[in-house]
Amino acid sequence: MPQELRFSTHLAEVADVPPALERRLQAAGLQTVQDVLLRTPRRYEDRRNCPQISELAEGEAATLQLHVYAAGWKYSHTRYFQASAGAAEHPEGPRILLRWFNMPYVAKLLATGMNISAYGKVRYYAGIPTMANPEFEVTDDEEAGQQLAEAALGNPVSHASSGPSETVHTARIVPIYRAVGGVLPRRYRELVWQLLSALPPDARPEGEYDIAPSYPWVLALRDLHFPESEEAARKARLRFSLRECFARQFCVAWRRRQARAEGGQVTATTDAYLHELLDSLPFSLTAAQQRSVQEIRADMAVPRPMNRLLQGDVGSGKTLVALCAMLLALESGKTAALMAPTQILAEQHYKNFRRLLAHTDVRLSLRTSDRAESDTEALPESCDTEPHLVVGTHALLYKKNRPVNLGLVVIDEQHKFGVAQRARLIDAGERPDVLVMTATPIPRTLTLTLYGDLDVSVLDELPAGRGRVLTVLRTPKALPKIVPFLQKELEAGRQVYIVAPLVEESEATDRASAIGALEAWQHRLPGVPMGLLHGRLSAEEKECVMQNFHANRSSVLVATTVVEVGVDVPNASVMIIHDADSFGLSQLHQLRGRIGRGQHAKSYCILLSDAKPGETGREKLDILCRTQNGFEIAEEDFRLRGPGDVLGTAQSGLGAVQFPDWISDMRLIHRANRDAERILNADPHLLRPEHAPLLALVQQQSGEGAIVS
Ligand code: ADP
Ligand code: MG
Repeated sequence: MPQELRFSTHLAEVADVPPALERRLQAAGLQTVQDVLLRTPRRYEDRRNCPQISELAEGEAATLQLHVYAAGWKYSHTRYFQASAGAAEHPEGPRILLRWFNMPYVAKLLATGMNISAYGKVRYYAGIPTMANPEFEVTDDEEAGQQLAEAALGNPVSHASSGPSETVHTARIVPIYRAVGGVLPRRYRELVWQLLSALPPDARPEGEYDIAPSYPWVLALRDLHFPESEEAARKARLRFSLRECFARQFCVAWRRRQARAEGGQVTATTDAYLHELLDSLPFSLTAAQQRSVQEIRADMAVPRPMNRLLQGDVGSGKTLVALCAMLLALESGKTAALMAPTQILAEQHYKNFRRLLAHTDVRLSLRTSDRAESDTEALPESCDTEPHLVVGTHALLYKKNRPVNLGLVVIDEQHKFGVAQRARLIDAGERPDVLVMTATPIPRTLTLTLYGDLDVSVLDELPAGRGRVLTVLRTPKALPKIVPFLQKELEAGRQVYIVAPLVEESEATDRASAIGALEAWQHRLPGVPMGLLHGRLSAEEKECVMQNFHANRSSVLVATTVVEVGVDVPNASVMIIHDADSFGLSQLHQLRGRIGRGQHAKSYCILLSDAKPGETGREKLDILCRTQNGFEIAEEDFRLRGPGDVLGTAQSGLGAVQFPDWISDMRLIHRANRDAERILNADPHLLRPEHAPLLALVQQQSGEGAIVS
């Protein structure tokens, strides 16, 4: 007697799953019964239309219960396998011709005398109904059918529990799956059927808190994969959405409580440094910046660790807000650190800060991975414990002598930051306040999902006097007209970004490369000094290129998306993006944010693309031409790509989402939050036996350092 099938059973241990299939699924990341069953169908096909042959209409999709009266090879301009079939109970009744082209194995599966169920689209030829390449399954004569199948495919198919009356592929609402690991959707469907039939009806994953015990797993999975109605499928999806949502929100609620319970530092009680800085600026803070500084300050001043997200479009002045917060911490005798995702950005922040703080005696140091601290003269070793400001990259976390006495950690562009790294900084024993900054606007509906345990400040306003960016879409054919325009801008002293998707030419695609673009543009704009920036350069080379561009020693910077995040050269007023359709919408918006930062009247973003109206890739370019509002663009990106993709690429720390419906479903999120709060109110430390799975869940999450807090 083989062991009872469980959700955790490894596919290799399931009888009837051939090793070849198991290997393919494994390679695609599907290892257990649960992994297979929690892949939701991409869509369903309703194959319940089961008319009589005599009623069939041209073009109609139908399932027919048929008896095969004759089957064999046919030869016309091509060879195909044909079955002449009709109702079993009417040998003299009307017939339909089923034809399979390029599917020679059908000959081994099908023989005269079998009963089958066939689904396909009906075409009449010379008055006779036919189906081309219908989906079919043998509904009796199972032994024979299975042996034939094995012989044909070396791929045994279990029909063990599909009785003669129960079809898998026809005469029902049939699940259609995304192909995975080269496994055909039909084969996947068979596997799901087989696993569902073999699981005991009351089976459920061990060690998991069941959020909806009244709707048993096996029943819900049956509704998910082989629903009796669309409604049943919806109900099942909702159940698994809620499961995902609950797990996520429970951890969020737990962390929120932990954070509240922890003692934090009280800083930001005085603000002399802050005022000194603000008084020295040639401009005043925007209302949004002032509001954010106040919100941050209020957090810092209470004895509870701050956990705040500062969200604002590129150029909205987040860095200055961060500096204000850092000065508040410093004045309270604490060291404050700013961590950027790349070295270029760290160095840029450092230089900015140095400029802004030039008239003060604030100690500032830079620490990145492959360069010694630049300001070491100003910062002798012994000063490390003295309060100061530090700017660095991730490397800051891994240094033996990482900053001590941390009062505030600012994390720039958090999407590029590994969640584990954030946790690492925070675990050091101290409980610094944490401010996370992101220039990737999140659709409003996602803020709660993604940042449920963070407080959020929003910079929804750009500093006044900002030049608008005019965005246009052109085909590469327009280049001869673009060149003189560029010359004019360059003569006026402006600088230009040219962006390409690849570093160098590739055999695999004809997308533009930065190296190729540099050559072409040197030819088009002879004598113009140009720099080349991409990820394959060493840190020193990048630094040198950026310095040249900053100092306007090169007027054109040809780059890949290295230039995407945070780079600030206000004098640059034109950006040309080659093969713009190969970038994501939000990414294009980020790129465009590099220009329009100076005082000059207008900046120009020229999107080059061959994408025609209606083609994929075109719509996002049109959106970009229409609006410059990052939040609006985020909503559109969300609409175009769906929550799964937006979150996936945003590296949000959300992990794999299988049932993304909940992500933008406030009702579901609120319900999950309520459930989580109810449980935590009744059992704050999760000590009750029935809550053991939840304790394991939150421990596992914090072990992985899932998020700030
Ligand atoms: P972000 O990080 O949000 O993209 P930055 O902080 O880099 O934006 O700010 C972009 C530029 O705007 C910087 O040169 C900064 O000095 C300037 N800036 C910031 N706040 C203001 C303001 N209130 N008024 C005018 N310029 C500002
Ligand atoms: Mg920034």
